[in-house]
Amino acid sequence: MTTTRKNIGELLDTKEMVDTLSKMIAIKAISPKSGGAGEMERAQFLRSILERWGFEVKEYDYTDSDGVKRPNLVVKYGDNDRTLWLVPHMDTVAAGDLEAWKTDPFTATIRDGKIYGRGSMDDGQSLVSALYALRALKDSGSNPPINFGLAIVADEELGSVYGIEKLVEEKGLFSSSDMFMVPDWSTSDGSKVEVAEKSVLWLKFTFEGKQVHASTPDDGVNALRVAIKFFYRLDNLLHEKYSARDPIFEPSVSTFEMTKHEKNVDSVNIVPGKEVFYLDSRILPCYDINQVLRDIEEFSKSPEFSPAKITIDIEEKNAAPQATPVSAEIVKLLRGTVKEYRGFELKPVGIGGGTCATFFRRKGFPTAVWFTGDDVAHQPNEYASIENMVNDAKVFLGLFRQK
Ligand SMILES: [Zn+2]
Repeated sequence: MTTTRKNIGELLDTKEMVDTLSKMIAIKAISPKSGGAGEMERAQFLRSILERWGFEVKEYDYTDSDGVKRPNLVVKYGDNDRTLWLVPHMDTVAAGDLEAWKTDPFTATIRDGKIYGRGSMDDGQSLVSALYALRALKDSGSNPPINFGLAIVADEELGSVYGIEKLVEEKGLFSSSDMFMVPDWSTSDGSKVEVAEKSVLWLKFTFEGKQVHASTPDDGVNALRVAIKFFYRLDNLLHEKYSARDPIFEPSVSTFEMTKHEKNVDSVNIVPGKEVFYLDSRILPCYDINQVLRDIEEFSKSPEFSPAKITIDIEEKNAAPQATPVSAEIVKLLRGTVKEYRGFELKPVGIGGGTCATFFRRKGFPTAVWFTGDDVAHQPNEYASIENMVNDAKVFLGLFRQK
């Protein structure tokens, strides 16, 4: 039997999908770094489902710095040379402020077509969509034109160190001829596919002057005045020099934003001798992030800020990986499938960054990031929409249909 648009939905059991996500929510999968026990119990739950359905599951465990084994599950279905991988993550963040939750974050509550609970949307919804698409493909009995690869990874929320970062290095697992999809960034209507990321540079600036009474400013060095002058000029310099636009990104330019400011003096009559400011930069991939950093360092040495001392510390520095071209096969395939099953055109966009796709793109593997859902990740009262979960599963399944 070949799956057609008409019968594809019949292969998905909504009730069972809801039941699986609900059970998953009840099994916490929080990083030891966030006070949890890791993903092992949830991984074994998922593994037992896959094995019950007749799939062979490979498990890659990586021991973290707390001595906890962090499991990653891999399943491959089909006997082709190439594989299309779906890569959801199984870990979740902690519940956060319990007062802000209307329901118990670890007891799934179903209301108005939504499943409430921690990790329901990030990334449980896509995980279940992918899981049931895989099963439906097997049940359909059709021979897919490309293997269905499912890699359910650990540790995504805290940097993927014991998840995809290690898994991409496993010999013979992923190949450059494979295709990759990370269902871990969404829009409410599912109308955008993420194909590119900006580089991220977070800097901390410490301005040291000399604290004095405000009535005798000439005896001191006002660190706040230096900081204001510095940022006013730096802001212009960066925006002028790094002014390129790339319409795929939202926003289309590099952004340089002064954000956090640490508390300085306690009184209105004290000239501050020390100021600490932070700058959040999201830089278009056409620029070398190290050049931006060199420019900022060079500028800080300008004699006009003397005798104040300016120190720059790097809080975060991540060069954007190669963007996935809009013409990449995975992007075309996804766009075609969404058009066919959902009836709309997917818009390729670039964002600030930060999914498992980064690690595939660093390897030069084109990767599409997509699913459908409101942006409620990491928030109290996080929910997944049952309709989105089922509709996305149809699209995932549609990616493997015979042409
Ligand atoms: Zn996520």
